[in-house]
Amino acid sequence: MKSTIILANLPHRGSSAGEKLTRTNTSDGIRAPLGSIRDTAFADFVSNAVPVHLLAEYVYCAAKVPNRKIQGDIRTPVLLEGQRIHEAEAKRVLAEIGPTKRIRISTVFDAMVHAYRNITVALRKRKVLANSEKRVFFLTVLSEYGIVGRPDAVDCRDEKNPVIIETKTTDKMPLSPWPDNELQVGIYMMGLERLGFQPTHGVLEYVKRNSPKQRKRYTIPLNAGLRQEAVSAAKTVVNLLLEKEEPIATKNPRKCIPYRFVSSCQWKPTVIA
Ligand code: SF4
Repeated sequence: MKSTIILANLPHRGSSAGEKLTRTNTSDGIRAPLGSIRDTAFADFVSNAVPVHLLAEYVYCAAKVPNRKIQGDIRTPVLLEGQRIHEAEAKRVLAEIGPTKRIRISTVFDAMVHAYRNITVALRKRKVLANSEKRVFFLTVLSEYGIVGRPDAVDCRDEKNPVIIETKTTDKMPLSPWPDNELQVGIYMMGLERLGFQPTHGVLEYVKRNSPKQRKRYTIPLNAGLRQEAVSAAKTVVNLLLEKEEPIATKNPRKCIPYRFVSSCQWKPTVIA
C-alpha cells in the first residue's frame, strides 16, 4: 500500500497542473521518468532520498555526512533558535496567505504537482509562499538525483519567475555568501526548474541571531557552475552514505569548533581537543 503525507494546498481552480508538469523539461535536458515517479510512494522516496541540508553540510566538511549517519540528528539550542526565528518568519508570511486546505500526497508525482500548483497560484496572486513546520506548500524534488528538500520561502510577487528565499541565522555576518548555503539555494532553484519554472536567481538572507532586525541579502544566480557543483555533491554524498568513499574532512580546525559532533568525530584534525 502507498503511504501518504499531508501537505498544505492553496485554494485553486482547475486541475491541469499534472498535465502541464508532464510536458516540462529542465534546462540541463534531464527528464525524470514520469512513469516511475507516478508509481513511487512519496514517503518511501523521502526515507531513501538525500536531504538538501545534508548536501550543504557536505560542502562545509565531507565528514559531516558519515557523522550524521552515525549520530543521527541531534538538536542543539543554537539549531533550535534558528528554527524558532524561521518559524516566526513563516507565520508572518502565512498570516497574509490566509486559510489553506490540507491534501494527501501519495506519490513523488503528487508532491511535484502539489508544488507546481501552489507556486502557480502564488504567481497569479503575487504572493510570497513560506513553508512552516505545519504547513508545507512546496518541496524540492529532484528524483533523478534522489534529492528532497524544503526551502524556506519562494517569492512569487513578480508574477513570472519564482525566487527562492533562504534564510540563515548567524552570529557573524559573512562578507560573501557561504558556499554551502549557496549550493542549497542552487538546488532549490533546480527544483523549480524541474517543475517548469525559469528561476534566474535566488536570495540568501543572513539574520543576526541575537538581533533579527540586522540582515544581509545576497543574490545567487543559477549558473552552470552551481548546477554542476550540486550534481557532483549529490553523487559524492550518496557514495559516502553507502560507505563507498572515505570522507575528506576539513583541514581547518576552526570549522570544527561550532560542530555538535566534534567530541566524537573520528575525522577531525588532530589539533582539536
Ligand atoms: S568535527 Fe571537524 S572534521 Fe569532524 S565533521 Fe565536524 S567539521 Fe568535519
